[in-house]
Amino acid sequence: MRKYIFVTGGVCSSLGKGIAASSLGSLLESRGLSVCMIKIDPYLNVDAGTMSPYQHGEVFVTDDGAETDLDLGNYARFTASPLSAANSITTGQVYQEVIRKERKGDYLGKCVQVVPHITDEIKRRIYTLGEKEGIDVTIIEIGGTVGDIESIPFLEAVRQIIHERTRRDAISVHVSLIPTVTGGELKTKPTQHSVKTLREIGIQPEVLLCRIATEMDDAMKKKIANFTNIDYECVLSAHDVNTTIYEIPVVYRDQGLDRVVCERLGLDVKDDKFSAWEKVSETWKASEEVVEIAMVGKYIELDDSYKSIDESLVHGAIANGVRIKIRKIDSESLTSFEKTQKALNGVQGILIPGGFGERGIPGMITAARAARESGLPYLGICLGMQIQVIEWARNVMGITEANSGEFTPDGPSNVIALLEEQVDVTQYGGTMRLGLSESVAVENTLIYKAYGRTSIKERHRHRYEVNNTYREELENSGLIFSAFTPDRLLVESAEWPDHPWSVGVQFHPEFTSSPLESGPLFRDFVAAAVKKMHKEI
Ligand code: GLN
Repeated sequence: MRKYIFVTGGVCSSLGKGIAASSLGSLLESRGLSVCMIKIDPYLNVDAGTMSPYQHGEVFVTDDGAETDLDLGNYARFTASPLSAANSITTGQVYQEVIRKERKGDYLGKCVQVVPHITDEIKRRIYTLGEKEGIDVTIIEIGGTVGDIESIPFLEAVRQIIHERTRRDAISVHVSLIPTVTGGELKTKPTQHSVKTLREIGIQPEVLLCRIATEMDDAMKKKIANFTNIDYECVLSAHDVNTTIYEIPVVYRDQGLDRVVCERLGLDVKDDKFSAWEKVSETWKASEEVVEIAMVGKYIELDDSYKSIDESLVHGAIANGVRIKIRKIDSESLTSFEKTQKALNGVQGILIPGGFGERGIPGMITAARAARESGLPYLGICLGMQIQVIEWARNVMGITEANSGEFTPDGPSNVIALLEEQVDVTQYGGTMRLGLSESVAVENTLIYKAYGRTSIKERHRHRYEVNNTYREELENSGLIFSAFTPDRLLVESAEWPDHPWSVGVQFHPEFTSSPLESGPLFRDFVAAAVKKMHKEI
């Protein structure tokens, strides 16, 4: 029988449910189980593709081109779960499907209702993945907070699954908060209430992960266990770690999370592969040197906007045995070259991430110029590569009006232009060049050295490309195009000549990097930054 674990959150949002679910996934994998991770988002959007990074953080892209919630990124970094469009379920998708069936006449004249039709569709989606060949345990994270209006149909589906599986093959894990009130006292009441809310819906959590500033003592665990009907050994302290999030599986394992979960699910499994995570956390603790990287973007106010890039830089640092500090700079504040140089003072590398729209572009171009002229290691991702090309065209080739069709659709010198297939697209959702595709690297370039091979498979999410009308001119002026689509029709990466380390890529290498195996470009970028710090380049 396949096993299901439902992870819910209580008291308030942003408790790190995603990291908790991912850590649990990684612990179960280290016991030899194969895990499938699912994120449920109770919002009405069909996917996260049209959502602002300011409000919802980064949009994560899967191999098959789904634009999903950033928690799928956590799953990818912590586990080996297969992740595709089906692993990200939203209210929008569920209703869209039920309404489609209703219009088709599939319900044979019945009144179509939230229970059972919406709940059945939710269950169908969960079981479709969970019952797949080779999957032992499916972990389903329910977004939002227990008690929200939006999540009620999902929690009802969870209740039904736990009931159908007789609480032996499906359990609930609840993540809650123990806040500290003025005066420093810790309060368990909000947690008691949120478990009570779950129980009113008919779900009795088996495991409680309590987010708390410092490690929870035994007396508090006993008190919570007593009030919530949860076994004492299943009330765990999810205290803040001030090292790295990759320490969290270690914190949970030390308290026996995987053991109590396996016991409750009747899984008799061994424990043999955990050392990889311990090694990550040991390497991080042992690293002393700190390299500082400037990230020049426009969505810097919200911490989660560039989540996968932040994490990938950490992976690059782990691979080099150093720590990383990211200086996030709002590109709109870089209004002159002097200001830019000042803002970049002391960093050992510059990263320009992806982005959409015209705001903040001049500051990014100035930052790219500073990197090129001062020999600072440069990594440009998607928009960051387009900026690299525009900057080159303007300041090296003297095409003063060089730009992207995204910002000047009728401009005279758009060195970056719309993909031909995009010209007639009017709808925004899911219409970009999306998902995994192959690029072929040119031998002896930096990108080739990073990947160690010519065939590179990474994910895309963009509408614009290097304009082929300018390709020869750009190359003749010295700019190196170091990777192309296999048919050579599209440029996939650019490098500056006579520069210690610069790679701009049209794809998003941050979606495939993990702490156990850093993305090659992040590894080499951080390595170049370390060299810069040691004045070796
Ligand atoms: N806005 C640019 C494009 O659509 C870059 C997209 C991105 O950085 N993801 O091509």
